[in-house]
Amino acid sequence: MPEIKTKRTKVAEQEPKVRAKNFDEVSLGYSEMEAKEEASRCLQCKKPTCMTGCPVEVDIPAFIRFIQDGDFGSAISKIKEKNNLPAICGRVCPQESQCEKYCVLGKKHEPVAIGRLERFAADHEISNGQANDIKISKSRRIKVAVIGSGPAGLTAAADLIRMGYTVHVFESLHDTGGVLRYGIPEFRLPKRILDIEVENIKKMGVEFRLNMVVGKILTIDELFKDNYKSVFLGTGAGLPHFLHVPGENLNGVYSANEFLTRVNLMKAYRFPEYDTPVSIGENVSVIGAGNVAMDSARVALRLGAKKVSIVYRRGEKEMPARHEEIEHAREEGVEFEILTYPTKILGNISGWVEGMECIRMELGEPDTSGRRSPIPVKGSEFIMKMDTVVSAIGQSPNPLLFQATPSLKITGKGTVVADEKGATAIQGVFAGGDVVTGAATVIKAMGAGKVAARAIDEFLR
Ligand SMILES: Cc1cc2nc3c(=O)[nH]c(=O)nc-3n(C[C@H](O)[C@H](O)[C@H](O)COP(=O)(O)OP(=O)(O)OC[C@H]3O[C@@H](n4cnc5c(N)ncnc54)[C@H](O)[C@@H]3O)c2cc1C
Ligand code: SF4
Repeated sequence: MPEIKTKRTKVAEQEPKVRAKNFDEVSLGYSEMEAKEEASRCLQCKKPTCMTGCPVEVDIPAFIRFIQDGDFGSAISKIKEKNNLPAICGRVCPQESQCEKYCVLGKKHEPVAIGRLERFAADHEISNGQANDIKISKSRRIKVAVIGSGPAGLTAAADLIRMGYTVHVFESLHDTGGVLRYGIPEFRLPKRILDIEVENIKKMGVEFRLNMVVGKILTIDELFKDNYKSVFLGTGAGLPHFLHVPGENLNGVYSANEFLTRVNLMKAYRFPEYDTPVSIGENVSVIGAGNVAMDSARVALRLGAKKVSIVYRRGEKEMPARHEEIEHAREEGVEFEILTYPTKILGNISGWVEGMECIRMELGEPDTSGRRSPIPVKGSEFIMKMDTVVSAIGQSPNPLLFQATPSLKITGKGTVVADEKGATAIQGVFAGGDVVTGAATVIKAMGAGKVAARAIDEFLR
């Protein structure tokens, strides 16, 4: 047996100094040769454990085997049996805590770069034409409504249409994709890639009704009256949390949601072609250390900020963002003020931010999240100078739809109550993704969409 390479095959990336000034994709992906080299590291285990870490059940060893053999068309067909958004997942899945975490090779060496290989297979198909048409049942007598076109809704819709239902997706915004379009920046997930994967779902027959705010323009009851036999709720968690500290209403304070949505939907990333009013100072602080915070910090750099700091109340080890994103942010020059918590935002006489009072923290015992809890260090207050603050400390579901649907059961955290199959308190209404779990991940939302699609099929049979 040939010796296994202990390190994974490197992927080409834009230089940090160059990419910090543009919105082009950071990672350039594997070439055919690199993909085959990386795929050859896969042991093709008899009892593969990697698959237990994939919420959408991709047959990982089988698709990697096809890449080893240079049969890239079969590789993407294998992935697409389970995953309708492979080019997206290959780019944004937190693989280190999913499939790659369970890779046997990872016990002693670096795990196989499953995500990068998935991206390679998907991108190869995009550049070389579709490998295989997906087989779809033609009998479409029963109508199902999907509310929300994020990863949960897109997955549920694609799986339901394959099962033979007529599927209409109702989306409140003017375009599809949810956070994939309005949250995650262009340099991590180009809109072109999202458009291609949504187009593939359209080609399967799923229809989209855009600019439809369910709960305002029409209600779930009205959908049932309109002969939809089941409804899937995948409305996400788009309502930002705030710090509730003095000064939060000053000019120059954004929620990450507002900041990234302005940049993405109003195309600030294509300045000066699009002159979007996102005023960004020279010195920006982003509060939080999840993916949303890393994205905000890196976008601020690209919009011309001179100094960008992540302000986080816990330590390095506790940061929830993907490792790769933290590394990329650091390489690009984002600074990290860890064990620091803002107590007050300070403004000048014109009502604009000019600084932030913070306190240093130390770590105590683990809390309910399993992470060590931050405790303020008495007397350690200090002032940071800045002109923009972006708050990225979490989101919960927007209550608009629930207010119009009183029989839907909601938790104290504002999420929808649903069982393990996604069934809610209303018969025929299923839910999944961030609207049930609170802010989580793309692949978890997709997994929930898949489970709910099966449950809807069982319910309608
Ligand atoms: C900036 C940012 C970066 C992220 N980075 C990553 C990452 O790198 N990796 C990762 O795995 N996860 C990441 N996440 C998390 C991930 O994007 C979410 O967990 C995922 O998008 C949730 O999918 P969803 O389908 O449940 O909801 P969403 O993606 O939020 O989609 C919900 C959709 O429902 C629509 N909607 C809401 N209310 C209504 C209504 N009343 N009527 C009609 N439509 C409605 C919304 O407009 C939206 O299109 C990130 C999140 C953010 C904000
Ligand atoms: S879909 Fe995500 S979790 Fe599943 S194999 Fe691909 S990268 Fe891993």
